[in-house]
Amino acid sequence: MPDAEHPIVEPLFLDGLADYHCHCDYSIDATGSIDEYCRVALARGLVELCFTTHYDANATSGDGASFIKVKGKDQPANPDNLAPYVEEVLEAHDRYYPLGLSVKLGLEFGWYAGCEEEVAQLRGRYPFEYFLCGIHELENICFCCHDRFEACFSRFSVEEAVDKYAAEVAAAAETGLFNTIAHLDYLRKYGQNFYGPQIDDLFLSRGTESVFNALKRTGTALEVNTAGMRRQPADYFPRVKLLNQARRAGVDIRYLGSDAHRPEDVGYDFDAAASLITDHVAACLD
Ligand SMILES: [Zn+2]
Ligand SMILES: [Zn+2]
Repeated sequence: MPDAEHPIVEPLFLDGLADYHCHCDYSIDATGSIDEYCRVALARGLVELCFTTHYDANATSGDGASFIKVKGKDQPANPDNLAPYVEEVLEAHDRYYPLGLSVKLGLEFGWYAGCEEEVAQLRGRYPFEYFLCGIHELENICFCCHDRFEACFSRFSVEEAVDKYAAEVAAAAETGLFNTIAHLDYLRKYGQNFYGPQIDDLFLSRGTESVFNALKRTGTALEVNTAGMRRQPADYFPRVKLLNQARRAGVDIRYLGSDAHRPEDVGYDFDAAASLITDHVAACLD
């Protein structure tokens, strides 16, 4: 780096910050090796980088079988196939720690009802330090895929969609199995296209009480996800109004996540987003 695929890495000065949400080429929708992500993190002054590759294993998903990528090939998402990812992240930790970057082993687990046993199995098998819960489906259809969101949303009124999504988030938080719920209010990504801007304010008035209570009861945190800043809806997930509402309710808002799917997006917008978290300076302790 830089190379033909990643020609420019904009300089950012993010000393002391941590990125707790990034993908790498073990995710089927991401590019860039673990090593490339680490080099960008180091160049930008991050002290921690937590890899959270996608793991979607909902057998009842309308999308059929789900995959992870291993050495450039699609493989079914199952615990065995995660072994090379785990090994490579742990190796990166050993290599980059002496240079000042603590690399963490995490996973973005795609939520589905009844996944508790599978989560426990994965956490028992590998030394994950961070389990991020990604809620990407309503009734087993992806609402954040550009080719499926219409099929998903066409079955619901905007109120129903928000209520069903909030119920999924609350159920996921209630398990207490996850460190953090990823990109709260992610439904807005394509929900704005389908339903219009009214979906934004519905998030402030419907379902938040049960979500916040579940988060607090189980000590599950929220992240400030900056992906929406570089694409639609040009705002954080969750947007600042909802973030403030969560904070006032006593929810722990702890992590910054770029949700980078290419190395140059590591730490994206963190210079501004850092003001939105209270515990943002993470020391390189282990
Ligand atoms: Zn996600
Ligand atoms: Zn993600």
